[in-house]
Amino acid sequence: MQTSKSEKLFQQAQALTPGGVNSPVRAFRSVGGTPRFIARGEGAYVWDVDDNRYIDYVLSWGPLTLGHAHPAVVQALQEAVTRGTSYGAPTELENQLAQLVVDTVPSVEMVRFVNSGTEATMSALRLARAYTGREKIIKFAGCYHGHADMLLVQAGSGVATLGLPDSPGVPASTAANTLTAPFNDLDAVRQLFEQNPDSIAGVIVEPIAANMGFVLPGDGYLQGLHDLCREYGALFILDEVMTGFRVAPGGAQQRWNLDPDLTCLGKVIGGGLPVGAYAGKREIMQTVAPAGPMYQAGTLSGNPLAMTAGLVTIWTLIEPGTFERIEQQTQKLVDGIAAAAQSAGIAIHTGNAGTMFGFYFLRESGASITNYDEAKQYADTERYGRFFHAMLEQGVYFAPSQFEAAFLSSAHGDDEIQATLAAVEKTLGMLD
Ligand SMILES: *Cc1c(COP(=O)(O)O)cnc(C)c1O
Repeated sequence: MQTSKSEKLFQQAQALTPGGVNSPVRAFRSVGGTPRFIARGEGAYVWDVDDNRYIDYVLSWGPLTLGHAHPAVVQALQEAVTRGTSYGAPTELENQLAQLVVDTVPSVEMVRFVNSGTEATMSALRLARAYTGREKIIKFAGCYHGHADMLLVQAGSGVATLGLPDSPGVPASTAANTLTAPFNDLDAVRQLFEQNPDSIAGVIVEPIAANMGFVLPGDGYLQGLHDLCREYGALFILDEVMTGFRVAPGGAQQRWNLDPDLTCLGKVIGGGLPVGAYAGKREIMQTVAPAGPMYQAGTLSGNPLAMTAGLVTIWTLIEPGTFERIEQQTQKLVDGIAAAAQSAGIAIHTGNAGTMFGFYFLRESGASITNYDEAKQYADTERYGRFFHAMLEQGVYFAPSQFEAAFLSSAHGDDEIQATLAAVEKTLGMLD
């Protein structure tokens, strides 16, 4: 077989950067094969360097809620770039995007922009520690919050009271302050609080555990976490880097009526440029320098191009009817996938909220997945790999891992949904 351009570029890349990629999951390790090098994107589609076209359900892992190269975003960026790309001084754009976040995300009163979701969660935890004067944090097994040392801890099954690092290079002393509990298990969290009543600064959680596939919170679970935080004087930190402007315009907190102390944002708020933000109650945010003593800074933070892309993306997204239309398309697609699986006799577990969704191929039909252990136990990753490659062959690009969520954009119309479902039906019909 002829070597593709993607294969050649991947060969070159492997000599230049570890594993040939600048973020691990891009390398296709969990599905095998060669990652497609992308040449361009437009609307719901990306084209690889061999000129194959794909309907894109990765959308840069969430940010592109209007699809690729949306005309309004492109035009605003073209105009902005002629005014310079960075000043290291305040701009009106930062006020505008901060105001838009305050107006849209219910709990937020103040915002600090950073450059990635990792920076957002890392800074939010520093803030929780500074504000409470406490050192320990609680996170949930299988929840991903970026790659900061104290968050690279999952600690596996059961209630682990001792954090163990997930990656070499994370000091055990850092990990030791990270307590973990299984997702969707309030009693486990209560136990951690009872064992550490005066030392927990905050609880950080993904409202939908969407970095272990797609696991919805049980009824009352997130509010239960917040209640425990209140009882023990810890901060409730909602990591909405993925769910923000996705689960609802105002994120999971709007959809489920939550009032977190701090919120982490990223992805959509940058409209495809590098941005993150941590945000929350004024009294807490005033702890951040230079208003308060907690130091945090960034040379490119509040970058004018990133602010511009974020503003235009969110303005367009909150135009009447836009979000609802993407949400309906998401529902159609998920219903279609579930129906196709059923008629093919393939056990599948689907979930969706707003404009994001996920599905697991199950090893046992009827298995339910409510936490990370169950995801690892029941998800048929090999079948997913075969599905992924068959879909790719037919021009549909899902995430190259069973344990990632999928996304729609305003550019995903009926044609794209129908083409996707036709490919899904065909694939599931022949999948072993
Ligand atoms: C993507 C993600 C992050 C990390 O954001 P980066 O911009 O990749 O650093 C943090 N939390 C959640 C929930 C995410 O999905």
